[in-house]
Amino acid sequence: MRFDVITLFPELIEEALSYGIVGRALESKKLILNTINPREFSSNNTGRIDDKPYGGGPGMVMESEPLVKAIRKAKQSSDNAHVVYMSPQGKKFSQAQARTFLEKKNIILVSGRYEGIDERVIENEVDEICSIGDFVVSGGEFPILLIIDAVIRLEEGVLGDPDSSAEDSFSNGLLEFPQYTRPESNDFGKVPEILLSGNHKAIATWRLKESLKRTLKTRPDLISNRNLTEEEKLIIDKIKSEENS
Ligand code: SAH
Repeated sequence: MRFDVITLFPELIEEALSYGIVGRALESKKLILNTINPREFSSNNTGRIDDKPYGGGPGMVMESEPLVKAIRKAKQSSDNAHVVYMSPQGKKFSQAQARTFLEKKNIILVSGRYEGIDERVIENEVDEICSIGDFVVSGGEFPILLIIDAVIRLEEGVLGDPDSSAEDSFSNGLLEFPQYTRPESNDFGKVPEILLSGNHKAIATWRLKESLKRTLKTRPDLISNRNLTEEEKLIIDKIKSEENS
């Protein structure tokens, strides 16, 4: 998977991606990362790439020319790249979207700063606008880091155990069940008995029930939008009757 990142802060992206699972993916070349600073394409010798908004108003806007040139440079080394601009005005990112991005293979991610970017960049060069949620942060760099991390952990061979991403929250449309590790018992409590039983079928049923329980509690929208299996319907009825008793 290749990501080209257009950013005024390339070091921020490179440094943050050098740790843990993503860092190893970079070392093993499962993740190819290239950064381009639009300042390189500033039309004046001060390196300035922003200016006041037409029509007035607060703040500064990133100019179109340096950004378009940076995107076009990225396209030269990234075949058929899909260009994504990060913005709170985009479609909300999700686990499903991470999978779609993985299939694209080559993605150019564009980070805005200040009040955002000149609209003509979006009209001419951007295929998709992507948001990380209904809140505003100061730049697209942190959103981009989230996207790259979420996508690369789905790439084959990046996680030690290929099943771990399949079990993650949202992969099957539910929140993940609670996890425990050694010791079996300490001052903070005991591990649920069933997890020590070695009975894989009973453990799977317990985990499904716990997943449904916490999804019902904190993300009921995921349940209402789900095609529940017969087993899930039965478990949900049981959870509800237990709550009422
Ligand atoms: N004035 C803009 C927000 C600018 S914030 C507006 O109201 O739409 C500055 C930059 O941060 C944006 O250009 C974008 O790249 C990034 N950004 C801020 N919030 C974001 C979010 N929720 N998702 C993705 N990118 C975001």
